[in-house]
Amino acid sequence: MRAAVCVLALVLPASAFVARTLPSSSTRRVHRAAAAKPGDVDCDEVCVADLEWTPPVKSGERDEVFGPLKDYCVDRRVVQRRPTRTVECGPVKFGSEHPVVRQTMATTDTKDVEGTIEQCIRCADEGFDLVRITVQGMKEADACAKIRQGLLDRGYDIPLCADMHFQPKVAMKVAEAFEKIRINPGNFADGRKDFEEKIYENDEDYVAERGYLVEAFYPLVDKCKELNRAMRIGTNHGSLSSRVLSFYGDTPRGMVESAIEFADMCRQRDYHNFVFSMKASNPVVMVQAYRLLAAEQARLGWDYPIHLGVTEAGEGEDGRMKSAIGIGTLLADGIGDTVRVSLTEDPEYEYKPCARLVSLAGEHLTPESAKKQGAVAKFDDTRDFTKYGRRESSLPEQREGDATDFRGLLHRDGSVISSVNTEMLQSPDYFYKAIGCKTAVGMPFKDIATSDSLLLTDVPPESDKKARTAIRRLQESNVGMVVPLDLLKETPIDNAVALVPLAEAATAEIPECAGRVAYIADGSETDTQIAALKDLDSVMLISHPAETLSRLHASRRIFAILKEHEIDIPVIHMMEAAKGETTEMALEVGATVGPLLVDGLGDGVLLANKPDATFGLEFLRTTSFGLLQGCRMRNTKTEFVSCPSCGRTLFDLQEVTAQISSRTGHLPGVAIAIMGCIVNGPGEMADADFGYVGGAPGKVDLYVGKEVIRRGIPNEEACDGLIELIKEYGMWKDPEPEEEEVVEEEALQTA
Ligand code: SF4
Repeated sequence: MRAAVCVLALVLPASAFVARTLPSSSTRRVHRAAAAKPGDVDCDEVCVADLEWTPPVKSGERDEVFGPLKDYCVDRRVVQRRPTRTVECGPVKFGSEHPVVRQTMATTDTKDVEGTIEQCIRCADEGFDLVRITVQGMKEADACAKIRQGLLDRGYDIPLCADMHFQPKVAMKVAEAFEKIRINPGNFADGRKDFEEKIYENDEDYVAERGYLVEAFYPLVDKCKELNRAMRIGTNHGSLSSRVLSFYGDTPRGMVESAIEFADMCRQRDYHNFVFSMKASNPVVMVQAYRLLAAEQARLGWDYPIHLGVTEAGEGEDGRMKSAIGIGTLLADGIGDTVRVSLTEDPEYEYKPCARLVSLAGEHLTPESAKKQGAVAKFDDTRDFTKYGRRESSLPEQREGDATDFRGLLHRDGSVISSVNTEMLQSPDYFYKAIGCKTAVGMPFKDIATSDSLLLTDVPPESDKKARTAIRRLQESNVGMVVPLDLLKETPIDNAVALVPLAEAATAEIPECAGRVAYIADGSETDTQIAALKDLDSVMLISHPAETLSRLHASRRIFAILKEHEIDIPVIHMMEAAKGETTEMALEVGATVGPLLVDGLGDGVLLANKPDATFGLEFLRTTSFGLLQGCRMRNTKTEFVSCPSCGRTLFDLQEVTAQISSRTGHLPGVAIAIMGCIVNGPGEMADADFGYVGGAPGKVDLYVGKEVIRRGIPNEEACDGLIELIKEYGMWKDPEPEEEEVVEEEALQTA
């Protein structure tokens, strides 16, 4: 462990550290933990221990000084943008008085000045407000000056942000050219050797190490202040410093404390032109970290803007889904002044999802939305945002005398219900495939990603033999049939689940053919009607808030009442999709239902088309499963954590990601990280079972967890090497043969 060093006298007089530099009187309390270790610190004038650090949280000192943690948002019942100060970044401003800033990151080699300029121009023309560019060393820093000038010469004043890891001296250089510097508190002042484990047993040990942070960081802070540059203190879940990991663990709290430490240093230099970020590839962790940061800022009296992003979200629909869940949730909290949707795609493709999420955020703030929020009956929102825990619910059970098995109606890790009509049942083979069934000689079988139940929007008459046979065969395969009560009364289906409006529960007459009952609520029910579920014999509640209510708040109210009355009925979120592009669907669903599921509120999803929408049955089902996987509930495919690539990338990330996903995409329960480089540290692999990481030009390192197992494998052999590794660790299975082959095989066996 390094001893705390007295560095401040080298850079400025002691008088600069008096409390007047801090805007909030509530921060005047000085934490002097390190000074309590005489002999460790040899200070002639001012030493690190004499600086004003935010009091530590673990010991409870912060609670004593600032009181308990505040809430993460202004008002849980009415969406309001979290009030933040204005941070200037060239012509762009961040803060609650300004539109949410949309940004991306270049993927070119930074030394390729022309190529980078051209990509920045494409991004600016697309509509982005800011572009980030990676800066590895002095050569790249030199290129940055040319990139900045080249863009200005062509009439583009779009601000540029340097992405810095390690290299404080390079950051100093690039601050002369770019409008913003992003530093990673996890590695800005740490060398690679600091990935080694360290043990800090108490606040004193922890604080005493701050000397080298101050030494590395103050010059950059002073330079940014002098040149009026903006800064992002960008914490990353996967690259917390060994010091933070040792003391706080791999936790949202560690992420927040890491950022606060760097903010403390900025504030001591009276520099406030900075924003924070708390990125993670897991949207649940990411949401928790950002909320904790907002709550800590509220307690400390700070108002720094926040940049949102889900890191290493991946590509295509999955990448959009994860981003929508994380970013959409926080924007619905009123948190977020700037956004990046990180995708393993060219940066221009990030614009549409980014702009869409930002516009969805705006929709929460309209007078019409405020009216819908206000229309939700009052309730006590007691969610604890500092912990994640899925609400416990009881799955349907089998009872004596049941003619069919009702346990398959729902899945313990999260359920998917598909909305279907009689017309779809006219082509059974196509239909079975669309709901994810395997088939053998025309018989459907439930598979890993089969819809657990179906909601029939009309019921085929007895005379429609084809549709009736399909229903019976699906029931025999444990696919549940949920049918609205009035339809079921008119045209009975044996062993169906009768779906009854909750408001009519007291008077509903359930037909004999119904094996179970489910209820549907539109949020207009009274507290008493919702609480009555305690005494109703029901397998699930479908929550489908009316258009006149805020879905988020109406749903939270239902959960609050269920919690108050200790009702453990499973709740399925029903959402009707409006006409739109399929690529936008993941965004809509992730940002609409995601905010409930990341709070552990809900047991599944039912996606249906609005009357004017024509999304396919299979697409709606796979999107539903994507939502559950993105919310870390139910894995039905391989989880890929892939970086978006940047100037540091050591192989063609898009091509390699496509290759790996085509060969390993059939392994639910397996998570694979694909990283263009190791700059963020092995912690990036924290969320993955296996890692495929650029180690050197043309060479790949393979990881199991955070440990490198094979080093320096030539690119062209690395995918095979990864598969070998997955096999070695017993997590491989061969892909299943195509459907036709199964049918043929089965047909031969029965011939
Ligand atoms: S992990 Fe990917 S995006 Fe991150 S610095 Fe390395 S190459 Fe760039």
